[in-house]
Amino acid sequence: MTAASVTVRVPAKVNVQLAVGGLRPDGFHDLANVFLAVGLYDHVTAAPAAGLRISGEGRDIESVPLDASNLAARAAIVLAERHGIEPRVHLHLRKDIPVAGGMAGGSADAAGALVACDALWGLGTPREELLAICAELGSDVPFALAGGAALGVGRGEILTPLEVGGAFHWVFAAAEGGLSTPAVYRECDRLRRERGAGDGVDDVAVPAADPRLLDALRAGDVHALAATLSNDLQSAALSLRPDLARTLRAGEDAGALAAVVSGSGPTCAFLVSDEETAAKLAHALGPAARPAPAPAPGATLLPA
Ligand code: ATP
Repeated sequence: MTAASVTVRVPAKVNVQLAVGGLRPDGFHDLANVFLAVGLYDHVTAAPAAGLRISGEGRDIESVPLDASNLAARAAIVLAERHGIEPRVHLHLRKDIPVAGGMAGGSADAAGALVACDALWGLGTPREELLAICAELGSDVPFALAGGAALGVGRGEILTPLEVGGAFHWVFAAAEGGLSTPAVYRECDRLRRERGAGDGVDDVAVPAADPRLLDALRAGDVHALAATLSNDLQSAALSLRPDLARTLRAGEDAGALAAVVSGSGPTCAFLVSDEETAAKLAHALGPAARPAPAPAPGATLLPA
């Protein structure tokens, strides 16, 4: 990387509530998605180059496409198109967020690439416009830019920031192999049909944020948050990956206040009472488990 390169740090997310509505005619689901950014980060470095180039290192990098289909590359292309310029940039990803793990790592890299390219090319794109580009790139991308905590409705991309009254400590246990997010939604619809509940917008309750959970976040009350965590995709993720039930139980047995599948999985998230317990639980769960505090800031340009 040359001296002119810029690096952006971007957080992973956990869904403290993921309420999934019925299947819409356009193939998406309406969501009430309470996002919390957590201190597990990818780093995106952008450096001047003759054309678009992408490279990477770190956790699960062999399962990340290092070509124009990478979400970070797509972000650079869309930003350059908006400004009528060529995407001349070398993007380098340093990944620590599990790939296809339900922690929105690809979305984080897209938000990181957008902020990094904007700075590298001196564009000064207004934040509102960056957020609009993020929403075009994917449902979880705007939140990776914003960080903190937020309620996402629509496909999850229409964000309202939420107040968080204190730190929450988590442990994340990555699982071998990823889960495809669309496959988990399909399994959720299948299970709903099988239960005779139907799967359309008219059969399933309209998703809404749980007011007790929003109060728990606002108060920084870890016990109240533990009691209200919920994920409508969890039974679908467990149906596709029954082994995850064992991981969830192991975390609870080792002292977690609550255990939940992160987003579409297969990463399992454990909420604990404090930082020390997080370190102990991560140790007990083994090398694939990592402690991380929340809330974490969104995409942040690091000093040169
Ligand atoms: P979400 O929680 O938003 O559903 P996820 O965390 O489950 O997403 P990602 O890590 O974002 O999943 O990756 C999903 C797929 O996207 C990967 O299997 C990979 O093929 C592709 N992909 C494209 N760009 C990236 C990237 N920069 N990092 C990781 N995966 C990427």
